[in-house]
Amino acid sequence: MLIFNKKSDLSAFLSPLIQQNKSIGFVPTMGALHKGHLSLLEKSLSENEITVMSIFVNPTQFNNSEDLDKYPRTLERDIQIMQEVSNTIIVYAPEVEDIYEGKTVSQSFDYDGLENQMEGKHRPGHFDGVGTIVKRLFEIVQPNKAYFGEKDFQQLQIVKKLVEKNNIPVAVIGCPIHREDSGLAMSSRNERLSETARKNAAIIYQILNSAKEIFATNSAEATVKWVENEFQKHPDFQLEYFEIADETTLLPVNTKEADKKYRGFIAIFIENIRLIDNISLN
Ligand code: AMP
Repeated sequence: MLIFNKKSDLSAFLSPLIQQNKSIGFVPTMGALHKGHLSLLEKSLSENEITVMSIFVNPTQFNNSEDLDKYPRTLERDIQIMQEVSNTIIVYAPEVEDIYEGKTVSQSFDYDGLENQMEGKHRPGHFDGVGTIVKRLFEIVQPNKAYFGEKDFQQLQIVKKLVEKNNIPVAVIGCPIHREDSGLAMSSRNERLSETARKNAAIIYQILNSAKEIFATNSAEATVKWVENEFQKHPDFQLEYFEIADETTLLPVNTKEADKKYRGFIAIFIENIRLIDNISLN
């Protein structure tokens, strides 16, 4: 397995392959790999001649410095895990300097309003940071296809918009949410939960599934109220938001329309750790 720390070395390796029209699949991650990441990796390996995975904890997308400091960094273990999947993976694991060259700041992006909803509202600057790193990584790797998880559904829609508005020739592929046996969406942040909290966090997906049933015969407003009420019964959880939104515009639903696709989105704290999840409601 080849591991690059410098974009110049990675580009030098990739450019003859790009010239030979080899298909390149790309999986950007922040590391602390779990099976959710590996499902993206396996999809890329099955659809492309070359797969590049990046591991980079991107400082500009963190609006909370404690969250950035405490983000798990487990590069050696990550490399071992990737090696078990395939020794043909090309890894790009740069330092901040290699990406930001002394100016660790975000570019500003207009995503036609997608950035003003949910995560954008609660994490100011987050999607500028995401756009900055994704655009830069796309320029370095020049993939044909890039794989993103529906776990971060708003991010997936934002990246599709970034590519469309900037005419970037990359096909953005969304991949389903991978869950622990309990139903909890896999996340690098789950590693920071105590054993009890991790067990209790299974309730998030249970409540999302019940919300789906309730939404089938009730309004969005009534469903949101029900979810809020459920979490009030569990004081170890602090609900930041539960919203029902149109999958394409990410705007909150007022009146249900038959031809639209809806999703429930949640952000919630447990033991001061912020978890997100979502569920298709159609
Ligand atoms: P992260 O390392 O958390 O930035 O995630 C890197 C990529 O993996 C993103 O596209 C995420 O949406 C995706 N991802 C993270 N967790 C999961 C999961 N449980 N299921 C599917 N994809 C995931």
